[in-house]
Amino acid sequence: MSDSKNKKSMGLSTKIFIALIVGALLGVGIHYFMPEGYVRDTIIIEGVFYVVGQGFIRLMQMLVVPLVFCSLVCGSMAIGDTKTLGKVGVKTVLFYLFTTAMAVAVAIGTAYVINPGTGLDMDSVQKVEMSTTTSETSLVDTILNIIPKNPIESMAKGDMLPIIVFALFVGIMLAKLGSRATTVANFFSEFNDVMMEMTMAIMKVAPIGVFCLIARTFANLGFSAFLPMLKYMGSVTTSLIIQCFVIYQILLFIFTRLNPMKFIKKFAPVMGFAFSTATSNATIPMSIDTLHKKMGVSKQISSFTIPLGATVNMDGTSIMQGVAVVFIAQVYGINLSPADLATVVVTATLASIGTAGVPSVGLVTLSMVLASVGLPVEGIALIMGIDRVLDMMRTAVNITGDAVCTTIIAHQEKMLKRDVFNQE
Ligand code: ASP
Repeated sequence: MSDSKNKKSMGLSTKIFIALIVGALLGVGIHYFMPEGYVRDTIIIEGVFYVVGQGFIRLMQMLVVPLVFCSLVCGSMAIGDTKTLGKVGVKTVLFYLFTTAMAVAVAIGTAYVINPGTGLDMDSVQKVEMSTTTSETSLVDTILNIIPKNPIESMAKGDMLPIIVFALFVGIMLAKLGSRATTVANFFSEFNDVMMEMTMAIMKVAPIGVFCLIARTFANLGFSAFLPMLKYMGSVTTSLIIQCFVIYQILLFIFTRLNPMKFIKKFAPVMGFAFSTATSNATIPMSIDTLHKKMGVSKQISSFTIPLGATVNMDGTSIMQGVAVVFIAQVYGINLSPADLATVVVTATLASIGTAGVPSVGLVTLSMVLASVGLPVEGIALIMGIDRVLDMMRTAVNITGDAVCTTIIAHQEKMLKRDVFNQE
């Protein structure tokens, strides 16, 4: 009896954390102490760890499109009136832009204190061949692409913004039709329940997935690649910490008077999940679920703001880009004027909108930021080799920014249950 009680008291969050730490330690152990060869590389790292880890990410990704679509239809149907929806939308976008611009400013400030690119021995840096995968879409196209030509195609491709637009329309029309469309309305709300239940079921295996993902990453990376890059990594990490644990928490407290420590504690498993997967998109279901159950944020708000944030609000990514610009400029001995830095703030904010919530895309959009101030795009090769770990950290910050904003907006719209938030 007491045994089963103990088991129960060890929540999913604790299990995810244990998995993160044990997985990382095991990965480092494998990297240094297990001889290279078929068993280590093919069977363990690229076999078990890869298959289980990727299998888990795919399970989470499987949820994203149907879950986002159904919960957003239900959310907008419940809010119903377009004025409130419009108000929430505009507020969310402005808030997202504001936090991103602030993040870039923090990054540039920190980088000029640490000076990551001065005195770097270029020969010691592991350079990685760059592939030219940047597919350019013009700004006009980016804006137009928000409206889906074919909603089914957008769903098949998993393009979040057009899915969001279509779901909002469906929800609003259902609210308008009222009793004339109860069958369809009920279908969506029931299907939404099915997706939430499925999320919960899949989350039960999260610790195993997280364990394998993190063990593989650390088994592949030694510490030696990091050494010459420590100042760069330190600058990015410091800025990410300031953004996540100082700026967000101050904003949360100012706007809602909620306890930031409680927020961090309750949201930490989602950060751990984002950290191990480096994928904002796959984190959407867990974010919505945690915000709802542990913090009392209504799904009517989160079903809109979280997928939107996972697509357009990448504060962690823009921090990496801000630091990378200063780093590359210093390595190449190029001076950046104040006007250049202002340009970086603007372009990194826009690049954050254009960055998809999947691993490593931040590096691709970095080329746009570098080009905007005339820095050599080849500089990306310098930081590519060690980007994976930073990608994990920045993804955790990316989704925390979305959650903080969502909580603030939910508070302002009176869609936050404070008693749920304050519960232990
Ligand atoms: N991995 C990041 C995310 O999914 C995007 C990036 O910065 O590469 O949020």
